[in-house]
Amino acid sequence: MRNSSVKNPSVVVIGAGMTGILIAIKLREAGISDVTILEKADKVGGTWRENTYPGVACDIPAHMYTYAFQGNPEWRHRFAHGDEIQAYFEKISADYGVTSQVRFNESVDACHYRDGKWYLTTSRGNDLVADFVIAATGILHHPAYPDIPGLDSFAGAMFHTARWDHAVDLRGKRVGIIGTGSTAAQVISEISKTAGSLTIFQRTPQWILDVADKDYSEKEQARLRGNQGLMDKLRKRYAWLIRNTFTEAVSAGGWRHALLSWRVKRYLRRSVKDPALRAKLTPDYKVGCKRLIVSSTFYQAVQRPNVRLETAGIERISEQGVITRGGTRHELDVLILATGFHPFNFMRPMDLTGRDGLSIDTAWSRKVQAYRSVCLPGFPNFFLMLGPNSPVGNYSVIAMSEVQGDYVLKLIDRWRTGQLQSVEATEEAKVRFNDYLKQGMGTTAWVGGCQSWYLDADGEPALWPYSWNRWVREMAEPDLADFRRDTPVEIEPRQPAEKAA
Ligand code: NAP
Repeated sequence: MRNSSVKNPSVVVIGAGMTGILIAIKLREAGISDVTILEKADKVGGTWRENTYPGVACDIPAHMYTYAFQGNPEWRHRFAHGDEIQAYFEKISADYGVTSQVRFNESVDACHYRDGKWYLTTSRGNDLVADFVIAATGILHHPAYPDIPGLDSFAGAMFHTARWDHAVDLRGKRVGIIGTGSTAAQVISEISKTAGSLTIFQRTPQWILDVADKDYSEKEQARLRGNQGLMDKLRKRYAWLIRNTFTEAVSAGGWRHALLSWRVKRYLRRSVKDPALRAKLTPDYKVGCKRLIVSSTFYQAVQRPNVRLETAGIERISEQGVITRGGTRHELDVLILATGFHPFNFMRPMDLTGRDGLSIDTAWSRKVQAYRSVCLPGFPNFFLMLGPNSPVGNYSVIAMSEVQGDYVLKLIDRWRTGQLQSVEATEEAKVRFNDYLKQGMGTTAWVGGCQSWYLDADGEPALWPYSWNRWVREMAEPDLADFRRDTPVEIEPRQPAEKAA
């Protein structure tokens, strides 16, 4: 964008996690200088700042879990630990001059659109006016607390995994954990080593794929330092592997899904010899229906002598601990809630109001949907990064943000050059896009008869059901025919996505 006749918009980015940092860098590269980043917390990092539980790591290989433009030779493990990832984002944010742009400890309370501008009010009582707002508020950041009778009566220490209380020493204690998702699998593997006893309250068993972790030596790190080309190769190799093992398997089914299913079932058979325990750990739904857990340590942890797997179902919680169906009392010192998140809240509870006073709660009252995941009809010049249907089965969320970031920047460019006077997808385009998504869901594993955070209030999966490559291809160029026609230029409609694919 070097042409001096293009407009230089003011942009507010909400959130300085992985996506917010990325967007800030991309905006600067595009020559957009009037950028304000608001962050509710006191440092960057988002999910990796918030999740500090023992065992926290990323189950996507580290060399793939990086921005494409900046690999990291310093990864110490194949599955990078939370502190390494946090350090990576802090470093990138500082090196690219993003941190100094962020207004910390300032969240957005209200965000209203009027006559082509966004008016924001922050938690500090400050008012801002912007041409564009980009919500980089993440998907999994509103902890879900279980609705179990008596929860608040528990007298011991109790906390959600995303709000880990590091002042509580678990060594030698009677610990209970509710949940067996990706988070719990990591926590259990770690705390079972030191807790006096650990009771796992499992409502639904999970399919688990073992991929061994690996430590990177100083020699391996040294080979990568200053060699972005080599790091690119590694990133692409892992991306190819994940696409062809998980992503295609869970979205398209076929032989890949059969192979994946065979692998995880064999792993369970080989790891758990006790038939009664194995039966408790065997899911009755399709492999990949819930997000596949990657762990080479969970089954071992469950079989430690101090660990007990309780599947009776929780009746209520008392001052002393958990009471399961049938009346068994589990006395506990500490209760950990590994009960996941509310993924459909997105940027809410922010008071977000678009054109003609349309509130986000009204817009989403029937269904939480977007056009191409990032555009919301009725909310001009507003983008929701990693919005509905963004996740691609077990794939790197960084890669998703990069594709969406480029798409958003292209739309902003259309505004800067006057091709669009405001960027607002039409309702009709949103409906068409969501019908298209629905058509693809039938072949996926997510409709395989399980409950998961992937499903919306209607029980429909909110993911991208086609291939990764198709997504990248369809996000490559905005189709201006899908945007409101208050534009001064004639638009040539593109081929429908199905025909182009
Ligand atoms: P989750 O997958 O939603 O799991 C929540 C667990 O809590 C489930 O086992 C669920 O049981 C259980 N639960 C919830 N309410 C309950 C209740 N009232 N009574 C009993 N059990 C209850 O949450 P998560 O483990 O935090 O993971 C969420 C997502 O975060 C993952 O799928 C992944 O995308 C991401 N994550 C990624 C990594 C990584 O390494 N990249 C690590 C951690 C998390 P049911 O299964 O019966 O519902």
